[in-house]
Amino acid sequence: MAHNTLTDHEQDQDALPRIRRLPEGAVNRIAAGEVIERPAAAVKELVENAIDAGARQIDITIQDGGKSLIRVVDDGCGIAREDLPLALERHATSKTDGADLLAIYSFGFRGEALPSIAAVSRFSITSRERGAASAWELRVEAGRAAPIAPAALNRGTIVEARDLFFATPARLKFLRSERSESMAVTDVVKRLALATPDVGFSLTEGSRTGFRAPGGEARLERLARVMGREFRDNALQIDAEREGIRLSGFAGLPTLHRGASTAQFLFVNGRPVRDKLLIGAVKGAYSDFLPRDRHPVLGLYLDLDPHGVDVNVHPAKTEVRFRDHGMIRGLIVSALKHALAEAGHRASTSGGIGALGRFSSASAANAAASGSAGFYQSGGYTQPRPSPPSAALREVAREFQAPLVESGWASRDAVEADQQASHPDVAAGPDPRTRLPLGVPRAQLHENYIVSQTATGMILIDQHAAHERLVYERLKQQLAQNKVPSQQLLIPQIVELGSETRARLLDEADNFARLGLEIESFGAGALCVRAAPAALGACDVSALLHDLADDLEELGEALSLQARLEAVCSSMACHGSVRSGRRLNAAEMDALLREMEATPHSGQCNHGRPTYIELSLADIEKLFGRA
Ligand code: ADP
Ligand code: MG
Repeated sequence: MAHNTLTDHEQDQDALPRIRRLPEGAVNRIAAGEVIERPAAAVKELVENAIDAGARQIDITIQDGGKSLIRVVDDGCGIAREDLPLALERHATSKTDGADLLAIYSFGFRGEALPSIAAVSRFSITSRERGAASAWELRVEAGRAAPIAPAALNRGTIVEARDLFFATPARLKFLRSERSESMAVTDVVKRLALATPDVGFSLTEGSRTGFRAPGGEARLERLARVMGREFRDNALQIDAEREGIRLSGFAGLPTLHRGASTAQFLFVNGRPVRDKLLIGAVKGAYSDFLPRDRHPVLGLYLDLDPHGVDVNVHPAKTEVRFRDHGMIRGLIVSALKHALAEAGHRASTSGGIGALGRFSSASAANAAASGSAGFYQSGGYTQPRPSPPSAALREVAREFQAPLVESGWASRDAVEADQQASHPDVAAGPDPRTRLPLGVPRAQLHENYIVSQTATGMILIDQHAAHERLVYERLKQQLAQNKVPSQQLLIPQIVELGSETRARLLDEADNFARLGLEIESFGAGALCVRAAPAALGACDVSALLHDLADDLEELGEALSLQARLEAVCSSMACHGSVRSGRRLNAAEMDALLREMEATPHSGQCNHGRPTYIELSLADIEKLFGRA
């Protein structure tokens, strides 16, 4: 990683870095600014210093959200006794000579952090330079330094900042609650831990361990430690390169979304950033798969020649400026879209696992409610109260046992075809379709859920959600080829609408026409619909127009034409889809599953919900306590 280059380089030459004052010209060119506005900012600077010093293990302690104590202990290269006063001097740094402020391979380079922290706290730094015979301590209180004193420390550096802002009560007032300051600290530590999975971290708050990660972790392990285990099972590896710019990392499947963008971790040359351009590119790449208020989960690392990016824009260095931002955006959008397309119909496994969790917790609750002997009580057998999951299970069992004709097959042919399919051992060998990802459909439950059997388990498919996605993908494809087949209505339909809605729709009439929806004005309060996209089949035209108008209002002018058209496709698909409640025969179910396998992104509906969940035989055995 880029920020390690400097340390690697120094270690090669076995010469430890010296701290020097930056020349005046360089001082004037760096973005000056107040860096320390809250405890998390101090923690960020101190941990970055430890990483820059080549630490393998960094231990952070805070008290009262960092207000009364911040302590960072590292095992890095340490600071020579004679450099200690320089470390606390403004614009003195060991990390650049100021000649090329773009060629920065370390987190720090301004030489401002330690003096800023020391100026607003009761501060001490204790350090032992690698190879030195002893350690030394320098204490500073509100800017006044005490003489350097010998100290006991085997290696590395300890920096302590107590009572932050004690001398500036006005600043103290701006701090938030202990809880929110400590959350900000945790976020900073996690972001830096994600940037350097090879380094071990611990964060202790008071007497409680907030976060801990051992050193030497692989990137995905570290990401899963921060984002939760489910991320490991639902992440796509990203690896793309364009003109020497490399994008790597892991992106969550769209079904693994969150209500805020807090689980998006972005790094530029190893530095955690919160950059509008990058966040916008991620949003664009997922826009097809997620409702507008949901956010994907990911960790993306962008590495490029430091001359292609300016990290000097913002004193806190979380914003960056790219020389070629269009290209960076394109790289991110296309790499993510490509990975999502390759994932194809894969849906998040967390649906199935979550369902499993509910089943098992429900049975545990049952056991607890009726004593340790489960359904039996010491006084004899009592009828268990039907809890929702067990009722659901019985329902499933009944449907399985019911003759196929009764459970809703449409035609006799289908029944025969299916009887063959459901007795593969009797027929000539097992049904080869069990080898297909979505398996052999066995039954339809509640007129919406298809149960299918695969080689290693079973799948439950939400037919409405799946069909909606298929129609959407079909419309989009037709749109891309500029030929959305439309179907003239036998009798043009008149839809009455409020004047604003009507005007909004008429404004888009040309775009609708490209999508096969032909509307025209019909007097003051109405529109006439002459044709609708063929892919929709028979649909409720009036409901469609109302929903389109709502969507257009919500989207406003924010989206590009292409994005607007796709959004319209999405709401049209919702109307054209097989509503739950329609019975499908075996052939129809089979066709639906096969089309899902052949269609990109069929693992989630247009709103980011999964279209199917998978239960492996091992999961099922666990449910029955057989494993
Ligand atoms: P910068 O990181 O921009 O150089 P700082 O004020 O954060 O400025 O630190 C000043 C100098 O003190 C650094 O350049 C580095 O040489 C030294 N230093 C700070 N913290 C550490 C540490 N934990 N281990 C070794 N050296 C450190
Ligand atoms: Mg620094």
